[in-house]
Amino acid sequence: MKRFTAGLLFLLSAQSAWSQVSKIDSLISQMSLVEKVGQMTQIDLSVIVKGGYCNPVEPLALDEAALQIAFGEYKVGSVLNCACASGSKTLETWNEIINGIQASARLHGALPVLYGIDAIHGTTYTSKGTLFPQPLGQAATWNPRLVEQGAAITAYETRASGIPWNFSPVLDLGRQPLWSRMFETYGEDAYLASQMGLAAVRGYQGPSESIDEYHVAACLKHFLGYSATLSGKDRTPAYLAERDWRDLYLPPFQAAIEAGARTIMVNSGEISGIPVHANPRILNDLLRDELGFEGVVVTDWEDIYKLHVNHRVAADFRDAVKLAILAGVDMSMTPNDYRFNDHLIDLVQSGEISMERIDASVRRILTLKEELNLIEPSAPTTVYTQFASPAFQQAALQAARESMTLLKNEAALPLGSGQHALVGPVVESLTLINGAWTHTWLGRDEGAAKEHGLGMTLGAASQKYAPEGRYTCPKFSGYSLSKKELKSLKSCESIVVCLGETPGTEVPGNAESLDLSREEIDYVKSLASLGKPLTLVLFFNRPRIIAELEPLAQAIIHAYLPGDYGPQALIETLEGENNPSGKLPITYPRSSGSIVHYDRKHTEDFHSDYSTNAYQPQYDFGHGLSYTQFKHSALALDTLGFASGKPAIATWTITNTGSRAGQEVAQLYMQDLYASVSPSVRKLIGFQKVLLAPGESIDVHFTIKRDDLSLVNAQNVRLTEAGDFEIWGNNGSRQTLTVR
Ligand code: BGC
Repeated sequence: MKRFTAGLLFLLSAQSAWSQVSKIDSLISQMSLVEKVGQMTQIDLSVIVKGGYCNPVEPLALDEAALQIAFGEYKVGSVLNCACASGSKTLETWNEIINGIQASARLHGALPVLYGIDAIHGTTYTSKGTLFPQPLGQAATWNPRLVEQGAAITAYETRASGIPWNFSPVLDLGRQPLWSRMFETYGEDAYLASQMGLAAVRGYQGPSESIDEYHVAACLKHFLGYSATLSGKDRTPAYLAERDWRDLYLPPFQAAIEAGARTIMVNSGEISGIPVHANPRILNDLLRDELGFEGVVVTDWEDIYKLHVNHRVAADFRDAVKLAILAGVDMSMTPNDYRFNDHLIDLVQSGEISMERIDASVRRILTLKEELNLIEPSAPTTVYTQFASPAFQQAALQAARESMTLLKNEAALPLGSGQHALVGPVVESLTLINGAWTHTWLGRDEGAAKEHGLGMTLGAASQKYAPEGRYTCPKFSGYSLSKKELKSLKSCESIVVCLGETPGTEVPGNAESLDLSREEIDYVKSLASLGKPLTLVLFFNRPRIIAELEPLAQAIIHAYLPGDYGPQALIETLEGENNPSGKLPITYPRSSGSIVHYDRKHTEDFHSDYSTNAYQPQYDFGHGLSYTQFKHSALALDTLGFASGKPAIATWTITNTGSRAGQEVAQLYMQDLYASVSPSVRKLIGFQKVLLAPGESIDVHFTIKRDDLSLVNAQNVRLTEAGDFEIWGNNGSRQTLTVR
């Protein structure tokens, strides 16, 4: 058993001056096939705890017999925890469990284990960690600094939990609003998602070349086209031509890869009939050869097996393993048994997969382990004193504040000084403000949220953060109100109704429609019948259709899934202490049947009467009001030098013409007037968030490079074509930029 450890120790002492690569190669040369395949295997935590797969017994305790199989027999290299490994654990429990796993790996002569987790909006599975808004809410801040800060805090707290690898960020574009994971995306736009993705990767992995003990390896997911399902149901097919995925879905991944993201997770679905886990053109030709990605490619949950049972492109599991490994997978999130190992060993022994192919994956995995200080770990000296510190919580609160998106305001907000009613299912819930991936996979357990979260309900926040007596009207949290209850609201000055959506993700989060239920609609109508000003607050996983309710409300706020500090941020917003500055990172649809994005094609503008105003979303991409007013001057465009390769400079002045300070987002758009492939009506090419005191003016400057005007042509090549481009800012007045 000690053979491995002893060999490793010898290597490390004798070869400390070796380059990392030769050290790892030397290590690989000593490894058996079982050990190599073990490195390529990831099992779920529940496989090695008492109770067994998806049936863990609390309190969690490692199971000696299972550990012997995992590390003694199969030399497994990676463990994750997810859905069925039970919910949040304390910092102490995490460290105890993970130290126990490492000790067992050592004992059984296996290399140290790489532990991975989904900490997608803060340390989602660590008790009393700092929880941020879900990514869609973070994108609504249009403030990459906050996203980077949030990711850095998440990394710190994940590392404090003993975990060096985070399955985040989701860089799938949120363009199919029915999809159950809309809230996990940075919205529908490739440019915005790229900026937010870059910020997240910087925050997770840290500013330096290597990843230190306060940072984690990021995992970009789910490569490629996962969110583009035609049906809107999770893990169902996408139909995308190469030009489509190159144009829209690839850029956020490409940017994050260029920024040095260490790992990537594969799309569980299929593109145009080819499951991505079995597609070497995507996992090898594109990812490795073209994008130059050198990190680790991990499958998603059980996805090699699913090539056989679900996608049916492999007649058996062995064939599926062969397809996936030859396509380019490095690590199999198996995660519940060792058939992957048996088959892969057999495939190598039979010569169907070469040892070089195996070594290439093992090299990438060990390089990552080495970088994360797993291979020769120094005695842990780092103490994570800032875990859930007031400064961290303040950062999460600020992100929640800046995510609040004021969609409509007919002078109803901020609320007046009378008494207001706070009603709706969200008011007494901790799960509806956080959504899935919070303490449990689906995030539906109120008990777990209460036990492990730091947040408070809206009801409690309304008592703590509003002037005394403000929300003394009765609070009702259901969807049905008796006549008596309705009557009891008559004395209130206004009603704030908070609508939520059952937390969910992946397949359990599938929805049949974007429409609200009749019950929800009737409920809001009954409240509106009181004739009081009505504020509607939306805590949705995806944009639910509110067309019938919109005319009934004098104010509407989109709160997304704002996390533990969302209730405080909302109360501050209702009270006017927080001036909302969120902007929609999606086009908010008016009806389930009209899903058109802001960067649509001209043909999508045609109405049934052939007028060109078919684009009538409930709210436009980038929309969001403030309690102050901003005036944007016309954009001035300096094109001097553009023809000789210098960027053009777009400038305009923003003035806060209102009476309170506020943040505004300058948004820069372009339209390629004529192109070899049909151009979009508009595309975001820049944004900046600025803070302005009342009366203050500020000039914003954007550089526009030739590349910013690019498209993917019919030959699937990204380039900028000669022609005229219209450029405009928030004011809408256009300037022409000519590319020769
Ligand atoms: C999800 C991934 C996640 C993985 C591990 C899968 O079912 O699709 O996003 O990272 O589980 O929890």
